[in-house]
Amino acid sequence: MKRNGVENIKRELEKGSALIVASIPNRFYLTGFETSDGYVFITNEKAYFLIDFRYVEKAKEIVDTCEVRLSTSPLTEINELCRENGIDRLFVESESTSVRFFDDLKAAVAPVQVSDSDRFDKALRDMRSVKNEDEINAIKAAQKMTDDTFTYIIERISAGRTERDVMLDMEFYMRRMGSEGVSFDFIVVSGKNSSLPHGVPTDKKIENGDFLTMDFGAIVNGYHSDMTRTVAVGNISEEQRRVYDTVLKAQLAAIDAVKPGVVCRDIDKIARDIIYGAGYEGCFGHGLGHSVGVEIHEKPLFNTRCDTVLKEGTVMTVEPGIYLENKFGVRIEDMVVAVKDGCKVLTNSRKDLIIL
Ligand code: ZN
Ligand code: ZN
Repeated sequence: MKRNGVENIKRELEKGSALIVASIPNRFYLTGFETSDGYVFITNEKAYFLIDFRYVEKAKEIVDTCEVRLSTSPLTEINELCRENGIDRLFVESESTSVRFFDDLKAAVAPVQVSDSDRFDKALRDMRSVKNEDEINAIKAAQKMTDDTFTYIIERISAGRTERDVMLDMEFYMRRMGSEGVSFDFIVVSGKNSSLPHGVPTDKKIENGDFLTMDFGAIVNGYHSDMTRTVAVGNISEEQRRVYDTVLKAQLAAIDAVKPGVVCRDIDKIARDIIYGAGYEGCFGHGLGHSVGVEIHEKPLFNTRCDTVLKEGTVMTVEPGIYLENKFGVRIEDMVVAVKDGCKVLTNSRKDLIIL
């Protein structure tokens, strides 16, 4: 898999400066190896991955973006790398570095200056938001498993099964197909529970007349997918149909407008205006979507505030919802990737109202 991160960081760094990356998602993005610990040290010419004994053998086998070194005392080794490479200024990820580590690092590398700037948090966020072909293919493969899981489960949903049972069935099926894990704890909520956007599956039995909302995703090569469908079980009311149609209309209109160059909050507004215009103001209390990659929720965001201009290669979810307290909820979520003149929908499951 092609990984551009380390080379991009090298180009951003001035001579004499280095960056330490220690957060799990950024470390994985740069190395392609998921570990609970370790430090990536990058200068404008070289990159090193300091990793302890538990992981070092595997790291040497799979990490090709950095020189892998066994780590036993990270602060000492970081100090040595500063001397070896003539570093006088060190950057960290200011958004995820603890105060304790920052202070210890300053003491360990003195007189090297340690910066608390968020410059590289932003740079990494920007890099990660634009996916290369290999990253998009991993996301597509994860979404294919997600679509297949939906096809599998709608044949097996019926009144009387519990939310938790359906969730476990989906998870088992997806793992058996080869998903590296679950993208996040699946949301499977029915009836009144479906009005909770992030409800937790319970032992409630699915009943005739319920909406059932399933929000789930797979992981392939460390990249996530994310999808939501709401299906009806048995006879449903006119109000349920109206809400479903409104959410679908909002989703289709928003997807239609996604293309490079648009401002993220303008996409949110398209869906929000349709939902509010149909009389559901106050019933759509979350953002329209988020970027997806090595984490399930990445920047940029489709919400009322995000003023990021969308770039070609960014993968976003589009997931409007309407939630009527104590009654029911509907959410429909697809993933799209911004391409030259518009966007390509990566989700292939049907989204007309399915009544089981
Ligand atoms: Zn989701
Ligand atoms: Zn989502």
